[in-house]
Amino acid sequence: MRPATPLLALLLLLAQSGFTQTPYYLTAPRLFDGERMQEGWAVVVEGNVIKAAGPKASVPVPPGAIQLDFPDGTLTPGLIEGHSHLFLYPYNITDWDTQVLKETDAYRTVRATVHARNTLMAGFTTARDLGTEGAGYADVALKRAINEGIIPGPRMQVAGRAIVSTGSYGPKGYDSDQQIMLGAEPADGNDLIRVVRDQIGKGADFIKVYADYRWGTEGEDRPSFTLEELKLVNEVTRSSGRVLVCHAKSKEAIRRAVLAGAETIEHGDFIDAETAKLMKDHNVTYFPTISAVEKITQYRGWRKGAMPDPPNVVNKKKSFAAALASGLTIGMGGDVGVYPHGENVQEMELMVEYGMTPLQVLKSATTVNARAMHWEKRIGSIAPGMLADIAVFAGDPSKRISDVRNTLFVMKDGVVQKHQP
Ligand SMILES: [Zn+2]
Repeated sequence: MRPATPLLALLLLLAQSGFTQTPYYLTAPRLFDGERMQEGWAVVVEGNVIKAAGPKASVPVPPGAIQLDFPDGTLTPGLIEGHSHLFLYPYNITDWDTQVLKETDAYRTVRATVHARNTLMAGFTTARDLGTEGAGYADVALKRAINEGIIPGPRMQVAGRAIVSTGSYGPKGYDSDQQIMLGAEPADGNDLIRVVRDQIGKGADFIKVYADYRWGTEGEDRPSFTLEELKLVNEVTRSSGRVLVCHAKSKEAIRRAVLAGAETIEHGDFIDAETAKLMKDHNVTYFPTISAVEKITQYRGWRKGAMPDPPNVVNKKKSFAAALASGLTIGMGGDVGVYPHGENVQEMELMVEYGMTPLQVLKSATTVNARAMHWEKRIGSIAPGMLADIAVFAGDPSKRISDVRNTLFVMKDGVVQKHQP
């Protein structure tokens, strides 16, 4: 009979497309929903979304559901890395100059695919990537390959090349007759308009600007753009529906970035009460990147615990304390790439060491980061209608943040990526 064939074909197509996907019923003694810890909850996943979440008694098991229970686990939203560089890897293996200048984009991309997988398998289902540092727009291609399911990896927002002022950025120390490729794209004055638009056209999801760099007369961090330049960048960025994020360590660069309209400040090594208040008044999120500072210092010979804190670590601690005391919103982003991808938890451990509670850090890595990415309606919490990005960790990371090292289960978009029973 003729009409049966198209119907059958349609049903087959639906089954293959995952439309009739078997639902999941996930349970664990503890669940972090993005805001608080819950006990004895269940989560129902259908297709790529969370269908229901609540106390077990109030959430019935859907017919035919795959039931997974984690007897000593904690269910959390898929974690979000707020500051990654998937195209970089630890500088104690290969220094930054060599990675940027000598390694081909093809080689770096091959590595980045492994970095992406390691990030996802650690329970980080999303990453905000802050620039390829010399690998052009390879991050746009990486994001595409992940979104198309060609390779496993986190959902991404990418910065592309990022923008620096002429003369400020590295690699440095080469014969000035040489035209050296930089780790970001130089632009100044009105030319910033063209460069921002070009970066957007090539796939940047947000615009990252180095608002300062260590190019002072003593090698100290000094602003690299005027307030007017940053305002110009922000205006062009905003009108495309994107946001400006700024690398800024010094007080003055932070001030200019915030007044220009930057939504996040990366690093912020010299935040004091006044700077923190300005950031808070402008709803800015602070990404402290503690790990990067500690790791780079260790690569240079500092033995943590056995030697006194060097000045950059002392400054970072002061800065973090000022941010915390002021009630400034603090995101979780460690500059991972400086240390191994998949070891993202290092930043979370340091945030606790520097004064936050484990529960606060879990919020930073979920709801706070989701808001900073303007994706809070899609990811970062466990609630009906949210995308089914879920991780399970052995133990209780709201008490011991290091339990995030024990990843039992990872689901992204309703698809199981890792399951260690
Ligand atoms: Zn960075």
